[in-house]
Amino acid sequence: MNKTDAASSAPWWVVTDLDGTLMDHCYNWRPALEAIRCLQAQRIPVIPCTSKTAEEVRSFRAAAGLRDPFIVENGGAVHGETSTGDPWELSLGRPVTELRPILMELEQLLDEPLQAIDALSAKQASVLLGLQGQELQMACSRSWSLPFVPPSASARQRLPELASRHGVSVVQGNRMSHLLGAKASKGRALEALKLREGGSSVRVLALGDSPNDQPLLEAGDISVVVPGPDGPHPVFAQALAEGRYELAPAPHAHGWAEVIFQTVLSGGASFL
Ligand SMILES: [Mg+2]
Repeated sequence: MNKTDAASSAPWWVVTDLDGTLMDHCYNWRPALEAIRCLQAQRIPVIPCTSKTAEEVRSFRAAAGLRDPFIVENGGAVHGETSTGDPWELSLGRPVTELRPILMELEQLLDEPLQAIDALSAKQASVLLGLQGQELQMACSRSWSLPFVPPSASARQRLPELASRHGVSVVQGNRMSHLLGAKASKGRALEALKLREGGSSVRVLALGDSPNDQPLLEAGDISVVVPGPDGPHPVFAQALAEGRYELAPAPHAHGWAEVIFQTVLSGGASFL
């Protein structure tokens, strides 16, 4: 699990999923505020790596006082700011204008509706996403991915192969399925960010909660699964049992903060 022994003095990057990881199901991340401030005091970047849109992450960054780069739309794009404050974007995905007709084709092939995020009624959005008004608008403001309501279990089994034939992939977040270009993933976006920022020698603490975080966790030097109130997602059972991933000691922001204090801020290489 630990790829960092040989480079234990390398600088840390904390690369984290947001929904279900740093944030609970009410989007509350405040219990991690002190840990975030301590990371900032040590100039350790906190890099969101999320299915959220750039607009949503900008709103979170402003609330959390973060200035570090960020990965959006499940790795569809990487964003940051130059030293003079000019924004930059690196895209890895396929534009949503190409994804939308592919979603419709997949719908026909599956003979099952695949309802895109921006086709949800206000009531559906409230129930499924807990979002309304401007927050819902920001979540719908997609450039490089198209979230849709997860279909039936049998359709979900067939989707990866059908998607692959169309040059796209489907990943599962904690609320929605996401259609994105085949070359986009959270792990690839992290590699692209490392290349751009000269981060080849950094130690990455990666934190996630859902199957769409698998490529991020695979790319981490220390990889932590953050559980929900009912425990970790079952997809990580084997990796946790084998010790490839660690399990945060508490759900969401509380567990996230404990991992930060016991790993990055303790100077140690493992929090167990
Ligand atoms: Mg998540």
